[in-house]
Amino acid sequence: MPRQTINPYTNEVLKTFADATDEEIEQTLATADKLYREMKHEDINERAIVLHKVADYMRNHKTELAEVMTLEMGKLISESEGEVELCAMIADYFADHAAEMLAPTLLHTRASGEAKVYKHSTGVILAVEPWNFPYYQIMRVFAPNYMVGNPMILRDAANIPWSAQTFAEMVIKAGAPTGSITNLFMSYDQVEEIIADLRIQGVALTGSERGGASVAMAAGKNLKKNTMELGGQDAFIVLADANMNDVCDIAWRARLYNAGQVCTSSKRFIVLDNVYDEFLEKLIANFASVKPGDPMDRATTLAPMNTKRAKEKLQQQVDEAIAAGATVAYGNQPIDLSGQFFMPTILTDITPDNPAAHTEMFGPVAQVYRVHSEEEAIKVANDSQYGLGGIVFSGDPLHGEEVAAQIETGMVFVNNFMTSLPELPFGGVKNSGYGREMSELGLMAFVNEQLIVTASHPDLNNVAGGLVKVD
Ligand code: NAP
Repeated sequence: MPRQTINPYTNEVLKTFADATDEEIEQTLATADKLYREMKHEDINERAIVLHKVADYMRNHKTELAEVMTLEMGKLISESEGEVELCAMIADYFADHAAEMLAPTLLHTRASGEAKVYKHSTGVILAVEPWNFPYYQIMRVFAPNYMVGNPMILRDAANIPWSAQTFAEMVIKAGAPTGSITNLFMSYDQVEEIIADLRIQGVALTGSERGGASVAMAAGKNLKKNTMELGGQDAFIVLADANMNDVCDIAWRARLYNAGQVCTSSKRFIVLDNVYDEFLEKLIANFASVKPGDPMDRATTLAPMNTKRAKEKLQQQVDEAIAAGATVAYGNQPIDLSGQFFMPTILTDITPDNPAAHTEMFGPVAQVYRVHSEEEAIKVANDSQYGLGGIVFSGDPLHGEEVAAQIETGMVFVNNFMTSLPELPFGGVKNSGYGREMSELGLMAFVNEQLIVTASHPDLNNVAGGLVKVD
């Protein structure tokens, strides 16, 4: 089915894009694979120059690029602009640091001579990406792999064809060679087929458990290395001695940013008894202060959700939570606008057997839990199949760190927002996936770490047939 851009604020169909044909897919694979072989002989500094040009292009066309995302998936224009800037930062970071990170490393060894680990490109990477940060998700995979010398084929979410196409075209316009990134509007079956192709050497997916499990299964069946960046149900723990001004200033933003459609949104607020009432009162006041409206209007502070379907799914999850005993402390009323708006909602009294306690709510709905001890806070935080991120607020930062280390997730921030920066590894454990994006760890995701041992002299006394000889 052809993909459509439907503005979630006006519900208008803005654009339609034709599906990829099998011939197009074959042509793309051939071009990308040829480029991979050429890049092996290219000086990495040439690629750094190109990636800086991509960053410059993004900064120079910030508003124009941002408008595409806002019109297509509804995020506030200021948030779209922030995303464009973050992408430029990621491109600059990998352009500046990849050469050093990819230099061979020397190992201390008892083998004769020198042992080194070289870091080589491996081939074409398929990236399957979600809609919630249309450009940033692509850049997280593209920038490091471009520096490594792995071309990328992009298969993006069905509801953001315009953003996906814009990003891929932008990279080429900025000076990258054809084939370094190609967007293809592929069906699920075509994705499975392309994963099986020998020219594809890695699969990076960001998305839900459902999407991740399907694509990981195809990758596993074909022995393709893969990284999975999946959903989360992050805890925001407020300890008894937390600075409540900071907590209240950050809590509502940590839930409502991007209309609550963020993998690392704080979805469960776990609050110690002595500060619970103050916390809830201020969260309600802050949720009540947001202004829904046109996301292109800079005065708007609550964006619509990305699609009608997403809004309906969230409503169903909230209804199920209430049916299972949750209390609506605020919200859950219709918003009188034609766009896909969901009123910021706060749920309390969620017992461990309520499905809401184990469901990722991907929109502006906060769950607030009252706990009576730090141990209970940690236990509630860890009672989740997810393990992505989290936030701990403590009056004592060192103690905050001790609590953070007991949270079973890939990332925890103490006394601050969770932020994504190119030098910080991003990823989770449990059903939130495996592997990391960004930082040196992300750069290495699809690298062949090849061991080369160069003997100073053959040592026949100690080594025979590859085995250490024992006299
Ligand atoms: P999704 O349904 O899993 O979709 C993600 C991508 O996978 C889309 O391009 C989707 O295409 C594709 N896909 C799904 N099933 C597929 C299959 N069987 N074969 C091939 N491709 C398939 O996820 P979503 O609901 O759009 O995204 C939101 C989820 O992403 C949330 O759970 C969120 O927490 C998570 N997320 C995680 C991170 C992270 O870094 N950990 C970051 C952002 C978002 P279609 O659109 O065509 O279905």
